Amino acid sequence: MTRQPLLLLDVDGPLNPYAAPRLRRPDGYRTHELMPTWWAERQTRRAADGVAKPLRVWLNPAHGPELLSLPYELAWATTWMDEANALIGPRLGLPELPYVRWTELFGEDPDGLHWKTRDVVAWAAGRPFVWVDDELGPQDAEWIAAHHPGPALTLHVNPRVGMLADDFAALRDWAAAA
Ligand SMILES: [Mg+2]
Repeated sequence: MTRQPLLLLDVDGPLNPYAAPRLRRPDGYRTHELMPTWWAERQTRRAADGVAKPLRVWLNPAHGPELLSLPYELAWATTWMDEANALIGPRLGLPELPYVRWTELFGEDPDGLHWKTRDVVAWAAGRPFVWVDDELGPQDAEWIAAHHPGPALTLHVNPRVGMLADDFAALRDWAAAA
């Protein structure tokens, strides 16, 4: 049996529609107050009193089963790294997933690529993948097409709404065609 393509998942944007209006949690989502390491470090640096406030995260529990029903192998491609397994996955009903470990969180890229892009391509190691994220630009898609030997798709999700039925349909279509 051939291996399924990888589905690389960002958390903030696709699964947590953080940019939705503050008082309008999208339908189907639940509110969580979480303290991932990347957030705690950032908050402690910025807060005058050095005390980190938790991060409000909206998650839709229907997304876990929907993701698991797709013909992909799931993996995290998020700032949360392994903490996505501890803090996000269980709230969506997802099992422990492999994750991309970043060379440098929020690092500046000399060619203007997203700070995740080179690590994602290295991690995929030639396997077909779809990468779901809210911050990728055409320069990332072009770089991936030039440097990744297998088929790949970057799927942009609007962080005001998170993943929608159309995104899941696009993922099924791409896997069927790949
Ligand atoms: Mg994001």
